[in-house]
Amino acid sequence: MGIPPFSRRVLGILGLGVVLPATLLAGLGIYLTLRVSDVVRSQSARYDRYMAQQITEGFEVELLSDLRHALAPAENAAREGRGRDAILAALASDAGDFGEARFIPLDKLDNYDLLLVEHQPIVFAPGPRPGEWFTGLLIHDPDGQVSGVGGWMLDPATFLQARLRPLFEEHLPQNERMYGGIESTRGLVVRLTGPDGRRIVLGGEAGYEPTAYTGRLTGPLAGFSVRVAATQNAPVVWAQRFVILLIVFIVLMGAVLAGATFFGLRYTVRQLELAQQKASFVSNVSHELKTPISLIHLAVETLLMRRFSSQQDAERFLNTINHEAMRLNRIVDHILEFARLEAGKQTFRFEAVDLLPVVRDAVESFRLRLESEGFRLDVEMPADLPLVRADAAALSQCVLNLLDNALKYSRTRREVRVTCAARTDEAGEPRAVVISVQDRGIGIPPRDQKRIFEKFVRIETGLVHDVKGTGLGLSLVDQIMRAHGGHIEVDSAVGEGSTFTLVLPAIRSVAAGARSEPQENAAAS
Ligand code: ADP
Repeated sequence: MGIPPFSRRVLGILGLGVVLPATLLAGLGIYLTLRVSDVVRSQSARYDRYMAQQITEGFEVELLSDLRHALAPAENAAREGRGRDAILAALASDAGDFGEARFIPLDKLDNYDLLLVEHQPIVFAPGPRPGEWFTGLLIHDPDGQVSGVGGWMLDPATFLQARLRPLFEEHLPQNERMYGGIESTRGLVVRLTGPDGRRIVLGGEAGYEPTAYTGRLTGPLAGFSVRVAATQNAPVVWAQRFVILLIVFIVLMGAVLAGATFFGLRYTVRQLELAQQKASFVSNVSHELKTPISLIHLAVETLLMRRFSSQQDAERFLNTINHEAMRLNRIVDHILEFARLEAGKQTFRFEAVDLLPVVRDAVESFRLRLESEGFRLDVEMPADLPLVRADAAALSQCVLNLLDNALKYSRTRREVRVTCAARTDEAGEPRAVVISVQDRGIGIPPRDQKRIFEKFVRIETGLVHDVKGTGLGLSLVDQIMRAHGGHIEVDSAVGEGSTFTLVLPAIRSVAAGARSEPQENAAAS
């Protein structure tokens, strides 16, 4: 029994109506979040680059201004036309942070490099000690012509170290925020690295790599670099964490929504199936009731109108009435029992039962029906069986239901075999008692072998369509077996036949008294 096509359409629309918009919204959410995070990251990278460039250029400007300041007396001496010694003395008099002073006349100038800062050349050349540079400016004679270069030995590491912090603080904007207010200017790590790998760090060790920028120094300061990065507490880092959190949240929400939709749809499908099963149950039951009623009606009418020729004829009609009334009774009993089980009101009288006579009686009561329909009935029972804790009447009902199905769902090969046996564990102790009812009928497709135990389910193909039934029989058997702590198994092949097996736990050590003390138990529904 499937889902009606209309309901399928409704389910499809429901699924698409929820899942599609939810997926689109989640996608849009993730896209926008990534875009915002991109903007924050690029703003932060821009700011880091700005700071690194400011500090790098700041060092060169500082160097130029220091040189100019220190060189002023020497430049004055040169412009006044004083000699080389006077210039050198002036250089030595105000060396500031610089080392040994030198004056190199223009004709001796050889193998020097220039660094242009603010359009003014700084002259530099390697000093006698490694890492040390001669650094200076051009000096002019009274005619304004370049007469040589005045300068000092410079240790770049000392020079840069001393100026890093003041430069950094000088370039921090007074305002806490800049560039559209996205990146805080205070959360920065500045790192000065020398050619030997030595580092000076301002503002904490670990910076946020993805937006870091490294500016390289040139001229006499070559080999040093300044790297600026956001601190781990900077807004950009929080923005990235927020993005990850948001994406995880969206994915989780998606999973929850998908799960809810899936289970909701499954539940709806189940309800629709059940509604349809109930509808066909009503029509099946009406059919089942109608047949005996019509037959009884016909027989009664015949008798009333005395349309029979002999006393034997009359008895035949009375027999029909009796037979059909019993059938009606059986159907109504079935339905009532099912209703009681469903409501959890069915009570069982459990006692230690020997199943052999129970099964034998049930089979014998059915033998006549089977044989009158041309069935061969084989019964295989051992001499004795372990006892089980059971309600004998309910078990007899189970066996009768299985026999009834074997009869209903057999075509030309009319053979029914009933077997009782004990199942033992490895130690040879009886574990369970099994009762099998085997037929050579139409069989059940593997995909339906679980469903047939659900209430109202009928596999309405071929023969089943022509045979009347309520779809309650196996569901009843299944519920009764569960209430007994047992279960029902099915082994079937289409066209070959089916074997239904009732499995009941055996009572292990049976005390003599156990047989005689019945107990009442409510059925598990
Ligand atoms: P009903 O027989 O009233 O339809 P049941 O619950 O007894 O209800 O059985 C459910 C369905 O299982 C049947 O409609 C039939 O399709 C299938 N079935 C049950 N027993 C057999 C059997 N012995 N052989 C083939 N199919 C069976």
